[in-house]
Amino acid sequence: MVDGRQMCCVCGEPVSERFKVPCDYRRPEIAREYSVYWCQQCDLGQIQPRPSLNEIADSYNVENYYTHDGSTDERASRSTPGSRTILDRLRTHLSWRLDCGTELSPEEIRVTVEDRKPTICEIGCGNGQCLLQFAGAGYDVFGVEPDSSALDVANSELAKVGMEGRVLCGTAEELPESVRSRRYDVVLMSHVLEHCLDVNEAISNSRELLSANGVLVIEVPNCAALGFQQQLGAWPWADIPRHLNFFTPRSLELLLTKHGLQVSTTVFRGYCRQFSKTWLENERQIYSAFARHQSTGTALPGFNSRAWRLLIRSVFARPALKYDSVRIAARIR
Ligand SMILES: [Zn+2]
Repeated sequence: MVDGRQMCCVCGEPVSERFKVPCDYRRPEIAREYSVYWCQQCDLGQIQPRPSLNEIADSYNVENYYTHDGSTDERASRSTPGSRTILDRLRTHLSWRLDCGTELSPEEIRVTVEDRKPTICEIGCGNGQCLLQFAGAGYDVFGVEPDSSALDVANSELAKVGMEGRVLCGTAEELPESVRSRRYDVVLMSHVLEHCLDVNEAISNSRELLSANGVLVIEVPNCAALGFQQQLGAWPWADIPRHLNFFTPRSLELLLTKHGLQVSTTVFRGYCRQFSKTWLENERQIYSAFARHQSTGTALPGFNSRAWRLLIRSVFARPALKYDSVRIAARIR
């Protein structure tokens, strides 16, 4: 903050408030407003004022919180029968057919190393599913994870493939010393950067981990998506206040460039899950929670018709508007 004004953490210019949410939708009983400020230059949003570490820890203390790694199982939700009408199924099916996004796989990343195994460090590796995939593709794998139960699962899964004790407790801002002492061909953060209190520190730390030809791969929710542009803080992947930062392809690229990295690829993923039953139920929960704190007594929108409108608008839109996530790979300049 300078002279009482909030400044952008990427370009240093003043930012202004774009929207507020009236509460954490996962704890609707607490009336606590959050403001998101936006930098028009960088297209970056941030919750302001920044919460304390205690407040951040507390915000994860909610029921059914799933430390999502971006692998929300859209295929599973597609096959959930439940009370869906034929139109609901048609919408889910259409969006599934038109979803060209792909999850990160070892094949996507080209790493050239001689006479040794390539190495990967995943920051925020959750239960280690992605690391297991890289181990299967011949990588030597390492991980950092703040959630102790996810960390235990990751370590026991990796031990089964002969990689014991590879996941250590830490965050992007506070990496364990033994992780810092190595260099890696791939450093991965998938759906992590939006949770970080200090994105500059997170990027600067992960850049330090890269080997000379190493690649930093970052996936975040894509706030250029039409869904976010229409719903802002009510968009299911806004998840305020667990998400503290809101990126578009532009702001993520500018942040990486600021830290001496050069973007090599930008890909988008996550389309059909925006039309799934789980997503629509999530929207209903968010709108109901917000309505409790709005005195005007606004009626809830029609979620099915809203989803159809979004499908029609987005299906042939360019990827930056269509997909809910963006993944950028960058190398040291
Ligand atoms: Zn800026």
